[in-house]
Amino acid sequence: MSAISSFYEKQAETIIKALQKRQISGRYCPDGKSAAEYVCSRIPEGAAVTWGGSESIRQCGLLDALKQAPVTLWDRAEVKPEEMKAFYRKAFSADYYLMSANAITLDGRIVNIDGNGNRVAALSYGPDHVVILAGMNKVVSSLEEAVDRAHNIAAPPNSIRLGLETPCTKDGVCHHCFSKQKICSMLHVLEFSRDPERIHVVLVGETLGF
Ligand code: SF4
Repeated sequence: MSAISSFYEKQAETIIKALQKRQISGRYCPDGKSAAEYVCSRIPEGAAVTWGGSESIRQCGLLDALKQAPVTLWDRAEVKPEEMKAFYRKAFSADYYLMSANAITLDGRIVNIDGNGNRVAALSYGPDHVVILAGMNKVVSSLEEAVDRAHNIAAPPNSIRLGLETPCTKDGVCHHCFSKQKICSMLHVLEFSRDPERIHVVLVGETLGF
């Protein structure tokens, strides 16, 4: 095992212990392929599955794997713009919600920013099962760093990916803007889950997403 793989594994063990105190379970997978297989194995046959916009879950092959799995996928890519609001609300009733994180602190806090709020709403009070899949590139040491990462590392490439008209798409730097298409309308910090069965974090020992 390489030094970086060993480092990721040990760091993930530390985070998973911290998550347990917050009634959030966790698992480490060394690479995206094994993470995709693992997440698929957790989802029972026939379950309704949907997800928040995430490069990580696409990059690791999870979405492709789910298309071959015996589950029902609610894919927002197939939804017309005028039906999107209803779809986001329907997503609350899925059996499983998949997403990534913009940052995860060493003490187990999970930070996300959102433009519409549908993803952080689903995480807060949506489906009975939420799986957060995140590469170890998302790990930071403090909440302050997590918020900074969300604004300066995660949001600008996501804004570019979505073709938004925001200052960060022009120079790659967060200006804490008030643009109409601002992708950072809401800042969400997951501190604890009252339901210990609800949220599961899969940490992946490679770079995934932004
Ligand atoms: S410039 Fe605006 S949209 Fe871009 S990262 Fe900063 S607050 Fe978010």
